[in-house]
Amino acid sequence: VIEKGLPVKSTITTCAYCGVGCSFEAQTQGNEVIRMVPYKNGHANHGHSCVKGRFAWTYALSPERPLKPLLRKKIEDPWKEVSWEEAIAYVASEFKRIADKYGRNSIGAVSSSRCTNEEDYLVQKLVRAVFHNNNIDTCARVCHSPTGYGLKAAFGTSAGTNPFDSIQFSDVIFVIGANPTDGHPVFGSQMKRRLRQGARLIVADPRKIDLVKTPHIRADYHLQLKPGTNVALLNAIAYTILDEGLEDRKFIEEKCDKVSFEKWMQFIRKPENAPEAVQEITGVPAETIRAAARLYATGGNAAIYYGLGVTEHSQGTTAVLAIANLAMLTGNVGKEGAGVNPLRGQNNVQGSCDMGSFPHEFSGYRHVSDFETRMLFEEAWNVPLDPEPGLRITNMLTEAVYGNFKGIYVHGEDLTQSDPDSNHVIQALKSMELVVLHDIFLNEMSKYCHVFLPGCSFLEKDGTFTNAERRIQRVRQVMPPLCRKQEWEVIQEIAQAMGYPMHYNHPSEIMDEIARLTPTFRGVSYEKLDKLGSIQWPCNEQATEGTPVMHKEKFFRGLGQFHITGYVPTPEKPSRRFPLILTTGRILHHYNVGTQTRRTQNVIWFKEDILEIHPSDAQERGIKDGELVEVTSRKGSGIFRCKITERVQPGTVYATFHFPESRANIVTTEISDWATNCPEYKVTAVQVSALAKE
Ligand code: SF4
Repeated sequence: VIEKGLPVKSTITTCAYCGVGCSFEAQTQGNEVIRMVPYKNGHANHGHSCVKGRFAWTYALSPERPLKPLLRKKIEDPWKEVSWEEAIAYVASEFKRIADKYGRNSIGAVSSSRCTNEEDYLVQKLVRAVFHNNNIDTCARVCHSPTGYGLKAAFGTSAGTNPFDSIQFSDVIFVIGANPTDGHPVFGSQMKRRLRQGARLIVADPRKIDLVKTPHIRADYHLQLKPGTNVALLNAIAYTILDEGLEDRKFIEEKCDKVSFEKWMQFIRKPENAPEAVQEITGVPAETIRAAARLYATGGNAAIYYGLGVTEHSQGTTAVLAIANLAMLTGNVGKEGAGVNPLRGQNNVQGSCDMGSFPHEFSGYRHVSDFETRMLFEEAWNVPLDPEPGLRITNMLTEAVYGNFKGIYVHGEDLTQSDPDSNHVIQALKSMELVVLHDIFLNEMSKYCHVFLPGCSFLEKDGTFTNAERRIQRVRQVMPPLCRKQEWEVIQEIAQAMGYPMHYNHPSEIMDEIARLTPTFRGVSYEKLDKLGSIQWPCNEQATEGTPVMHKEKFFRGLGQFHITGYVPTPEKPSRRFPLILTTGRILHHYNVGTQTRRTQNVIWFKEDILEIHPSDAQERGIKDGELVEVTSRKGSGIFRCKITERVQPGTVYATFHFPESRANIVTTEISDWATNCPEYKVTAVQVSALAKE
């Protein structure tokens, strides 16, 4: 109940959902949040918002949130509420016991792209300085790790090149494997505005996403490829550009590594990369590929936007490298209106990767084996550090099943719903002696946990998020933590209880340490963030107020590097038993596995996961629109509400994954990207059948 008569206070903070990073005025009366108003001076949203950010914050006040730590020695036992002191002492003593008994590499942690930069930095510090290993990974592993790997290899740093606002200078927009109007709605609207002003549009997607045809917008080319064939398509576009002499030789000569270009050119000119050869693989007519290639290469400033439809494949990293090749080939990097722009699903995917949350890198993407960097951190943290990369999430889980990995701290992540092959994840969790979950709600994973530490919503936190355009923005505390402790305090207390002296008084001090130890963050501080409103990294002596467009004078790595991107078909093939290919994605009203949005009024609009199927496939199976259907793969089965639509092509079905009841992750395979282990969520061979009548 809101106390009447109290003054309304406004606090500027950042949306906790997608990677657009909209700013909001959180309006409060006393300690009660009364509404979220899109902030007109927000640098990422300019006063706009979507249905998630505007209305879906009420999960923060959900009565389902546990507000006290929960503990049980065995997962079969009932939960027991305990004090923070008891919970932290238990977690610390168990991690110490396990490390003593099984060795320091038997424990590790997973951090979250939903948490603040400061929290993510502390989790990796807990692992490196206190656990004495590099067994730290982030949930970005299962979404954009190929972006991190691919863009670093090609351009020198693991980040998108251009700000959102740069789209106003785009003449050609190439969207591949992304659905911005659903997944990144505020930027999707900005994109639509630019398209209505006359920018040309290429969409590469197995499905007719809204952008393909929506009022006043029609894609010039929809490359409706078969799932899993991005690399073949991108290579064919590059082949056409070279074949027709449309490349930007001046840009390549001045800014790119010539040896890698020559080698790549020899590869890409092979007949197997010609559109005429690739049309069979992709299902896209050769002439359409050639026409789209001409438009991308000659239409003016051309920007590529991509999402998980590129990364979540067995060749996710190869596709990112192929995108980078295209942008360099046509000189579309280092200027307004162009670039390679990954659309990040979660609010802080970029930040979580920046903060050293991968097992091989310190903050700022510096390898743990690099002596100079390691010495810098050893001196700052006053502890010897391991020069060997640690375990990725997938390796931690596999080692757990083998009996070698025994204790994990998971921050803001549901491994059972977010990682592939849920049965394997459950087996791994059951094999461990200590599973600690630090989150807002009990979730599917908490069924297999020994300790649950209650977390805070974004409204209860101080810190920063970094959005998809490298924009660091403040998250400001709007109300006190309902569970009494901010998450950074809990991580710090675990470190202290394990005997490590970690003493911060406020997240701003954590950011000061990040700035001291990370060259790309050297000029970042809360004071500067408050003054400027936001900062796009790199921000340092060379760029005191940040860097909106990257790689302007030269690439971050010096010369841009071309990579050979041979197409290798996914091992996941349709068969007589599983004749359809399932691909997955989001809808506007919900966010990821739905832990937050399912607890808000957004369920009014969308109550369950749907499966889209082409009319001919539905008819063949006797399936009627709106029925419940069973989707079965080689791994398992799930239940979805069926929608018959020509948005998908025959042979392909599409499902959303916001509700655990549909069991979308039980269905998906264990195949993953060759470079990063990012799971191949976008290609699963399935059969669909009508369920017995409800
Ligand atoms: Fe903005 Fe994304 Fe939040 Fe919507 S979900 S308000 S687009 S940050």
